[in-house]
Amino acid sequence: MAAPDLRDEVTELTRELIRIDTSNPPGRETPAAELLAAYLAKSGIQSELVGPDPERLNLVARVPGGDAPSLLLVGHTDVVPAPPEPWSVPPFEGRVVDGSVIGRGAADMKGELAARAVALARIARGDSPPPGDVTLIAQADEERNLSDVGMSWLVRERPELLGEYALDEGGGWLLELADGRRVVTISVGEKLLTSLRIRVFGRAGHASVASGRENAVRRAATAVERLFSQPPPPQHPPAVELALERLRAPGEASAERIAWACEQHPSLAEMLPAMTRMTVTPTGLRTFEPVNVIPPYADVICDCRALPGQGEDDLREHIDSVIGGAFPYEVELLEPITGGSESPVDTPLYRACEEFVAGRLPGAELLPLVTPGFSDSYWLRVAGEVAAYGFAPVFWTDSDVYRAGPHGPDESLAVADLVEMTESSLHAIAALGERADAAAG
Ligand SMILES: [Zn+2]
Repeated sequence: MAAPDLRDEVTELTRELIRIDTSNPPGRETPAAELLAAYLAKSGIQSELVGPDPERLNLVARVPGGDAPSLLLVGHTDVVPAPPEPWSVPPFEGRVVDGSVIGRGAADMKGELAARAVALARIARGDSPPPGDVTLIAQADEERNLSDVGMSWLVRERPELLGEYALDEGGGWLLELADGRRVVTISVGEKLLTSLRIRVFGRAGHASVASGRENAVRRAATAVERLFSQPPPPQHPPAVELALERLRAPGEASAERIAWACEQHPSLAEMLPAMTRMTVTPTGLRTFEPVNVIPPYADVICDCRALPGQGEDDLREHIDSVIGGAFPYEVELLEPITGGSESPVDTPLYRACEEFVAGRLPGAELLPLVTPGFSDSYWLRVAGEVAAYGFAPVFWTDSDVYRAGPHGPDESLAVADLVEMTESSLHAIAALGERADAAAG
């Protein structure tokens, strides 16, 4: 059982972080980094505030340890904006209601960040140094990731900060399955993300003389319709097979086993199909001519999420298979591809997370998933070859409340989970040391 002062310490720090409005855009995360630096200084930890934009600094704080593998504790300081209207309490006050902290960032991810900072402070206040170096990174600009001031900048400009292992956001959620078992998610990778433009060409002309079949807008509409009606066939990459194995999904064929798993929990019904296929989703249509001119071309803008291991060629191949031959078009990526990284599950840190779950929730098992959304773990995995996992226990927050919170109104997190998050970080730090000792001995 946690000492009551740990509970107070992590709750207060979460509330203070929520009170600093770091809505992105514009972010302005520096005051949040300064708050963490002042908090850590009380435990004798010197922090560095670094970054290319003085208003958007990142915090880096290290407690040096012994020879065991080093661990990064990672959390972004920015939040998505919170329009005040649908909230039942003001979003930037950090109120505690019925044992939960409510506010923008409570779940994504100022609570988790506070827990990681408290774990670091506890380690620094301890009697002996940690088994390996422990570094807290509190980075700016995760939510939009457009300005290159946060983790993408850190891994490029300060690669010496990276360690061997990292704990980040994106997993740790307790799912009570329909068959009565309990699993806890851990994010081991993320889908690849980009956006693209399909420029569909037609015959330009005066709108009073309809060019019918060759109208670029009509062709663009056909492209949109086909992209929705002809999704790529599902695939069953290793990450899906691993998840099905850990779920002990019955049946022979993957499709049948996935259907079974989707019946087990609404979160699995969302996550597992997303792990099986690329999505190319039209999100915009554009032309550039006055209303009385039939344009020479029309642009279809698409959000794309592909599976780890896929790339631009796979996206183009899919689009060709759907609209190729129908009319002339060109495909252009609108942003560089990011994401698509995975970490292995046979590492000491993964096992430390397994142990924590088994210890806290007897009978529950860890379930590795590839998340459809993006996280800064990508930069760590790709640039730094860090084994990074999304794992912060959410055992006590109602799962419907938790799932609706990030980016929605009345975002909340149970104080009991703040304690679990702190203790799971402390467990990981200790376990990496024990495993290093065992390996050396
Ligand atoms: Zn987040």
